[in-house]
Amino acid sequence: MPKAKQIERARGEEQAGSPLDAAFKLVDSLAVPVFFKSRDGRYLGVNRAWEEFFGIKGEAFIGKRVADLYPQDPAIAERHAAMDRELYARPGRQSYEITVRTRGGELRDTIYYKATYADARGEVAGLIGAIIDITVRTQAERALRENEERWRAIVNSANEGILVYDRSLNIVAGNQAAERIIGVPLAEIIGARGFTSLLPCVHADGRPVQPDDRPTRIMVRTGKPLTGHVVGIKRPGGAHTWLSVNTGFLRHHDSADWYGVVSSFTDITAQRNAETALRESEERYRRTFELAGSGLAHVSLDGRFLRVNRCLCEFLGYSEVELVGMSVKDLSHPEDRDAVDTRRERLLSGEVESVQLEKRYLRKDGATVWAHIAIAMERDAAGKPLYAISVLDDITQRMQTDAALRESEERYRRTFELAGSGVAHIALDRKFIRVNRRLCEILGYPEHELIGMTGRQISHPDDLEVINQQRAKLYAGEIDHVRVEKRYLRKDGSTVWVAFSMVVERDAAGKPMYEIAIFDDITERKRAEEAVRESEERFRSLTQLSSDWYWEQDAEFGLKFMSRRMGERTGLDAAAYIGRKRWDQPALNLTQADWAAHRAQLERHEPFRDFEMERQNPAGGTRWISVSGEPIFDSDGRFTGYRGVGSDITQRRQAEAELKRAHDDLAKKAEELQRSNAELEQFAYVASHDLQEPLRMVSSYTQLLKRRYNDKLQGDAQEFMHYIVDGAARMKQLIEDLLAYSRVGTKGKEFKPVSVEAPLKKAITNLRAAIEESGAAVTWDPLPTVDADEVQLAQLFQNLMGNALKFRGQSVPRIHVSAAERDGAWQLSVADNGIGIEPQYFERIFMLFQRLHTMGEYPGTGIGLAICKKVAERHGGRIWVTSAPGEGSQFHFTLPKKESP
Ligand code: ADP
Repeated sequence: MPKAKQIERARGEEQAGSPLDAAFKLVDSLAVPVFFKSRDGRYLGVNRAWEEFFGIKGEAFIGKRVADLYPQDPAIAERHAAMDRELYARPGRQSYEITVRTRGGELRDTIYYKATYADARGEVAGLIGAIIDITVRTQAERALRENEERWRAIVNSANEGILVYDRSLNIVAGNQAAERIIGVPLAEIIGARGFTSLLPCVHADGRPVQPDDRPTRIMVRTGKPLTGHVVGIKRPGGAHTWLSVNTGFLRHHDSADWYGVVSSFTDITAQRNAETALRESEERYRRTFELAGSGLAHVSLDGRFLRVNRCLCEFLGYSEVELVGMSVKDLSHPEDRDAVDTRRERLLSGEVESVQLEKRYLRKDGATVWAHIAIAMERDAAGKPLYAISVLDDITQRMQTDAALRESEERYRRTFELAGSGVAHIALDRKFIRVNRRLCEILGYPEHELIGMTGRQISHPDDLEVINQQRAKLYAGEIDHVRVEKRYLRKDGSTVWVAFSMVVERDAAGKPMYEIAIFDDITERKRAEEAVRESEERFRSLTQLSSDWYWEQDAEFGLKFMSRRMGERTGLDAAAYIGRKRWDQPALNLTQADWAAHRAQLERHEPFRDFEMERQNPAGGTRWISVSGEPIFDSDGRFTGYRGVGSDITQRRQAEAELKRAHDDLAKKAEELQRSNAELEQFAYVASHDLQEPLRMVSSYTQLLKRRYNDKLQGDAQEFMHYIVDGAARMKQLIEDLLAYSRVGTKGKEFKPVSVEAPLKKAITNLRAAIEESGAAVTWDPLPTVDADEVQLAQLFQNLMGNALKFRGQSVPRIHVSAAERDGAWQLSVADNGIGIEPQYFERIFMLFQRLHTMGEYPGTGIGLAICKKVAERHGGRIWVTSAPGEGSQFHFTLPKKESP
C-alpha cells in the first residue's frame, strides 16, 4: 500500500489528497526515522528511514504496539512506554537517549525526540517521534574517554615524573610521580613556572640553576629536546634529590609549531649516590693501594706486573716504570721461581679463594728478600679471571730471625746430642726427661730406659746423698750450681765415676722448671789418681836409685827433700841445703841478677829447665849442677811448692870447655889461613901480573929469533928453538890463567840482578869458534835471575862449556844447561856427553893445576875448574860434579836465590 494511503487510513481517510499528503511525502523522504503513534499506543505510520533503521516493513507494522517492536527486549519497550506515559501526562515535547535493538539484532544508541499532537478538538490524539542515531558518536566518545583514561592511568602509574607545560612554559598538568619526586603537591605545581622555580635547584656540579638554565628554557632556546639532563633539588639539611630530566615539544600532528612542552624525569639520587660512593671507594682503594704498608700488585694472567704500589717498588728496589711489564718469575729467586705454579691452577679454577706462600725475590741490587704473599683472583661478572691481586709483605727480617733461631736450636740440639759430656734434663721429681747419647753411654742404659728413671735409682749405694746435700742450697739460691764427684751403677753392674754438675733452669718468674745436669765420666781419672797414689811411693824410691836426684821445695822455696843420690853424685853436702833456698848459697857462674831472674820465675810458678849452677866444693874445686823443676798445685789449685830433678854436669861442662878451647883455636887458625890465603892471592896476582911483562919480552924475542934465524940453526938447535917457543907460549897461558884465577877474589864486581841467560849467551859467543868447529849443540832451559857478578858468571859458563867441548867423546858434543830450585837456592847444571870422569877425581879436578891428562892428550893448565870453584864460592854457592867415565859429566853449581825485594 502506498504511503499516502497508509496515512489516509491513519487519519480515518478524512483528508486524503490534502496538504498533509505533501507533508507526509516530505517526512517519508527524511533521512531521520520518524513514526506516529495513536493515543492508545498503536503505530499509525512510519517513514522509509524508520523501515531501514529497524529493518521492518511499515505496512506490516501499522496497528502494532511498541512491545511488538522489541519482542526480545521488553525493558526497552517498557522504557518507551513509560516515556510515552510521561509525555501524555504532560503533553508537549520530550527527548531521551536510549539504546534500542533493530530487527537485525544490532544495538543502536539513539535519541528519541517525541511530541504530542492534537486532533481537531484540541485533544491529544497521539505522538510523533523522530529517532536520531547517535551510535557512531557515542562510540567515538567512549573510545576517546577510554583512551584518555588509559593514558591517565599510565601517566599516573608511571615511575617517571611527567609535567606538561603550556606555550608560556607554565605547568598545566603533572602526574603522581612528579608530585612524589618533587615532593610538592600537584596542586601547587600546576600553574608554576617549572618546578625549578618552586625549589632551590643545582646543576650536576653544584652550581645553582638560574631561571635561564631551566631544562625547559634550554630546550626552547636551543630547539632541541633534552635527554638525561641532570638537575639536583636541594633539600633542607643539605641532601639532594637528583633528577635526570628529558624534555620534548608537544605538537599537533598536523602542525610544525609547538603548543606545549612535556618534561619527564626520574629520581636518580640512589644511582648517583652509588656512583659517588663507587668513585669515592675507587679513590679510597687507589689511595689504599698506593699507601698500603704492604706491597701490592696486579699481575696479569701471563705473570707480568700490571700495577704496583710504591711499597712494592721499594721492596724490590725497582721503579714503578721498570717493574710494570716485568715478569714476576724473572724477579723470583731461582729456587722459588716455580713456587706459585702449582697453586695457580687451583686459584684459576676457583677451587681456592686465595693462596698464601712465602718465597724469595731478587732485588735489583742482587740482594735476596723474603716475602709473604697472598694471591687472589679478580674476576669479571661472568667469573672469568681477569688478573691476580698479590699482597706481598717483607718477611726478610723474620726469615733471618727464624733461620737464626732454627740454627741456634739446631746448634743447641746438636750440642746437646754431640756433647762430649753426658747431658740430662731432670724434672723436679728427679726423673730424667731428656738425655743425650753420651749420657746413655756413660750410664750404660738405652735412652728409653733412662727416661723416667731417677738418678737415685742408679746411684752407688755409698753416694746416695752426695747430691742431695747441696740440692737444697741450689734451690734456695744460695749456690748457683752443684759440682760433685760420685759413683753410679751402670746397667751391667759396673761402677762409673762421674763428675756431676748441675744448675736449675727457672722460668721468668724464677720458679724452678727443671735441672740441667752434666755428667763426665772420670772413672779413668779416678783410676789414674789411684794409680798415681800407688806409684808415688815407688817413684820416690826409684828416683833414689836413678842417676839424677829428686828434690822438693815448699811454697816458700825452701828445700824440703833431696834424695841421697845428690851427695853421692856430687860429693856436696846435700844436708846443708835442706830448709834453705837455692839462692842462699853462692854459685860461681851466677850474678845477683841471674838469681833474681830465677827467683822471679819461681814466684810466677813457672816450670824451669836446666838451671845450671857452679857450686864450690868444700872438698876442693867446683861442681856443676843442673836442676829442672815444676810447680806443684793441690787439688784446689793452690801452689804448694816445686819438685824436680838435678844432675851433676861437671864432666859435660869440662868437655864443653875443652871443645870451646879447640874451637877457638880452630877459629884463630882459620882466620890466619884466610889472611895468608888473601896474601897468597895478592901475591899470585902481583906475581902473575908482573911476570907477564918479562914473559911477553921472552916470547916475542924467541918468536922473532925463530922467524929470522930458524933456517940458520943447525941440528938440535931448531928443535930447542921449538921447545923454547912452546914453553914460552905455555907459560903465557899459565900466567894468564893464574891471573884470571887471582882476579876472581881481588877484582870481582858488585853483585847485581842478572838474568842467567845473559852470561850464558856471552860464554857461547866467546866459544863460537870451538862450537862451530865441533858442530856442538848447546841447549838450555828457562833460567832464573840471580844476584851475581855477570862477568864472572860468563867466565864460569865459559870454563865449563870449554871443558865440555874439549873433553868430548866420539860423538858430536851436546851441552845442556838447566836450572832447578833446591833448598832455597838455584842449582845450575851444565851437562855434556863427553868422556866423563872417574869418581875418585871428583874432588881433585877443582884444585889448582890438577889435571887428569897430559898436555899431549888434552891441552890445559888445570886452572879452569879452580876458577869455577872460586866464582861459585864467591857467590855463596858451591860446585861439584857427577859423572861416570864414558857417560858424560854434569857440573853443578849453586847460587843463592835472589832475595825478593
Ligand atoms: P884443564 O881443563 O886446563 O885441564 P881444568 O881445571 O879445567 O883444567 O880441568 C881439570 C881437569 O878436569 C881436566 O884436565 C880434565 O881431566 C877434567 N875435566 C874437566 N872438565 C871435564 C869434562 N867436561 N869432561 C871430562 N873431564 C873433565
